[in-house]
Amino acid sequence: MRGTSREGLGDRVHKAEKTSDEDMRGRQRGDLLWIAASDRIVPSVLLQAGVTVRHDVATIGDRAIVFAPLAQEGLGAQIRDLRRLLGDRAYLIVVTEEELAPRWFERALELGADDVLANAGDAEIARCLSRARRAITRARHADDEIGHVSLERDYLQACIDHLPTPIFFKNVDGIYVGCNRAFAEYLGLSLETILGASVYEVAPEEIARRYQEADEALFESGGVQVYESRVCRSVGEVRFVEFQKAVIKSRNEDVYGIAGAILDITDRKRLEAQLIEAAERDPLTNAYNRRKFFQLAQDAAEWARSEAKPVSVAVIDVDQFKLINDRLGHSEGDKVLCAVSQVIEAASGEGNIVARAGGEEFYALFPGMTLESAAAVADAMRGEVERFCRLDVLSSVAGTVSIGLAEFDPGSESLDEALQRADSALYVAKREGRNRLRIAV
Ligand code: GH3
Ligand code: MG
Ligand code: MG
Repeated sequence: MRGTSREGLGDRVHKAEKTSDEDMRGRQRGDLLWIAASDRIVPSVLLQAGVTVRHDVATIGDRAIVFAPLAQEGLGAQIRDLRRLLGDRAYLIVVTEEELAPRWFERALELGADDVLANAGDAEIARCLSRARRAITRARHADDEIGHVSLERDYLQACIDHLPTPIFFKNVDGIYVGCNRAFAEYLGLSLETILGASVYEVAPEEIARRYQEADEALFESGGVQVYESRVCRSVGEVRFVEFQKAVIKSRNEDVYGIAGAILDITDRKRLEAQLIEAAERDPLTNAYNRRKFFQLAQDAAEWARSEAKPVSVAVIDVDQFKLINDRLGHSEGDKVLCAVSQVIEAASGEGNIVARAGGEEFYALFPGMTLESAAAVADAMRGEVERFCRLDVLSSVAGTVSIGLAEFDPGSESLDEALQRADSALYVAKREGRNRLRIAV
């Protein structure tokens, strides 16, 4: 081999035959290149195939088939240098004029050659060329496929990145393999930190364990999992979220992992709480309303029956409320009702229930209390109203309540019957001068 050394292929190039522009027409430019690193003449079989002679390797096109005539001396280093210059997208065929020892074929491939032509005739060169073309075609198809997949991936990423809902994907080992910008913002972490991490690396341990248990349950059950959770975003900021997760499978039913979305349902939860509140509370006094009282009273009656415990009910009525309205006006009357409601509620004690029955009338329920204990609590309510309303709200009008109390055996009497007896006792209290408690017979 003449005129070759390890340094600078460009310095060593010799003039070689060039194919005309005519020959290049109709061919993909840069496909078949003969690197003129020696004065060796390009084999005619390659010229016929349209090889272009190049004197440098700086601008080799994508996926070119490169023939490099190299000297045997220092062959390994030359192959390595060339491969480094060409990058790994060129199909590099080392051409030598002499026979090569068999071990050199292996060695040349190890060092970066894709094929070796040693003192080859036209037939062997043609076979090598067709191997190279097949390899290049396969590589181009793979490039196309990768390009297609990456386009599709970019498109899907753009789709989820533009949605405000945090979305994530985890593999079967619980590692985040994808997420959108909203999810990264939700966690307050960068995308790079999240991808490849487990939930333990992105959330406090206790929460991470809960999420992992939920994931395991989902893998176990398959399908879809929806659950609500309370999350603390920053100090004092509680949000309610709904997790919607699903097991993701291939067409062959192989499990890929879990896809999830996190919906912020704080506004919905607030509205739900307001609706519940509105359905069970009296808007003026904020005490339980009649409907809620009957629900709670039925539950208490059930409990008392099964536990063989006593229950008492009271009907509480504001005395001469008409007079209060007349003297102070309706809106002051409202304030008195609110005050009475709060005072009897505060005096009712743990486990007892107070509700506004309607107008200036209230109900109280004492589950599990003997008649004597319930009477003591009810009379304390009456005393507190008298003290509070006389001292703080009213001066000239009374501001007192009368109370009728009845013990109630849920096994033998209905709640309505017990309330009727309490009402009769209330009537007695009114008749006997008001601001007093009377117990039903
Ligand atoms: P008694 O001691 O016998 O119970 O006398 P009373 O005046 O309290 O009883 P009466 O049933 O004659 O009057 C009840 C009054 O309560 C009549 C009604 O206008 C008034 N009232 C009912 N609901 C409300 C309310 O929501 N706000 C106000 N301000 N007044 C109400
Ligand atoms: Mg009244
Ligand atoms: Mg009344």
